[in-house]
Amino acid sequence: MQGDQFLLLPGPTPVPERVVRAMNRSMINHRGPEFQEILREVTEGVKKVYHTRHNVLMYPSSGTGMMEAAVANFISPGDKVLAISIGVFGDRFAEIAVNFGARVEKIDFPWGQAADPGVIKNRIEQDKNHEIKAVLITHNDTSTGVFNNIKAVREAMGDHPALLMVDSVSGLAAVELRMDEWRIDVAVSGSQKAFMLPPGLGLMAFNDRALQVHQHNTNHRFYWDVTKGLKYLEKGQTAFTPPIALFYGLQEAVRMMLEEGLDNLLTRHKRYRDMVRGAIKAMGLELFAGDAAASTALTAVYAPENIGSNQIRKEMLEKYNIVLAGGQQSLDNVIFRIGHLGYVRELDLLSVLAALEITLIKLGYNLTPGAGVKKAQEFLLDNY
Ligand SMILES: *Cc1c(COP(=O)(O)O)cnc(C)c1O
Repeated sequence: MQGDQFLLLPGPTPVPERVVRAMNRSMINHRGPEFQEILREVTEGVKKVYHTRHNVLMYPSSGTGMMEAAVANFISPGDKVLAISIGVFGDRFAEIAVNFGARVEKIDFPWGQAADPGVIKNRIEQDKNHEIKAVLITHNDTSTGVFNNIKAVREAMGDHPALLMVDSVSGLAAVELRMDEWRIDVAVSGSQKAFMLPPGLGLMAFNDRALQVHQHNTNHRFYWDVTKGLKYLEKGQTAFTPPIALFYGLQEAVRMMLEEGLDNLLTRHKRYRDMVRGAIKAMGLELFAGDAAASTALTAVYAPENIGSNQIRKEMLEKYNIVLAGGQQSLDNVIFRIGHLGYVRELDLLSVLAALEITLIKLGYNLTPGAGVKKAQEFLLDNY
């Protein structure tokens, strides 16, 4: 018997029964009073999750669509842009900006490490004429399991007027992000990561400084235009037909997050990270990210030498119906990634660690059964 699948990807993540039920309803008029009320509630709720009093718009889109929308609305062709990359998603943000005509200068940090705010500070301080119009950065790079210290990056920018634009698709609601307090100008996210929803809904928050820049923006866009979006939001509508079922789900998911409490939610994710990392170390495996920058949303683990990570994932799926993520690009078959964001419980992670031990031993890895699980249990005894 296979039972329910344990989906431990860094997106899509498991969807709670409450959200599934909330979505299972008939359609309504997206220009009518019922939708107006839902849109009002979810916009307020999502603002709370972002810790912003500024603007939030939602579009039918994956996360990448929101990254593109951010570029199209806030970066003009010819603008100089500083793109900070620590992995696949930082590279993607830079590539989108190139595609939309920006003059992109990229700063790459080694995969597995966070961006060094000191390096960014140096570069920004050299830009005396304020040629740089925007700094693009990933909040949590899902390819490596590393998060950037966005607060420190903003501080490193000092009073340079460039917009700080953050891809927080896998960060928001799993890794701390305080939009207004940290003076983030634009931050995008998506539904299928920590928001506990199916894929398909993109979130974009931007402040009034970004809106001023937008008013002089010369890039091409129609569907993504935030001026249109804001105009319709005033009427309690979206510019174009919204994914109504996902809005039902978002309403329930946001209620769940606020019931849990946003601080508790972040503490829970920290607990998952520390528990999983401790257990993995106790199994004698090597973690891809160092302790200082280790993501609370997912953990990337080197497969033992001689056993590729894809074989581990295959066994876990076939024997236990557990889905782990592989490595992307050069990390394919080198690392596997355990997603622990959104609707995941300690119990799920204990099961996964136990199944991982059996899998590794069966594949020839030298390990005492229970070594990692014991560490996880001890962690929970101390931290519950
Ligand atoms: C998942 C993710 C995205 C967007 O991916 P989509 O497949 O377009 O939803 C962007 N950035 C990061 C950091 C992500 O984790």
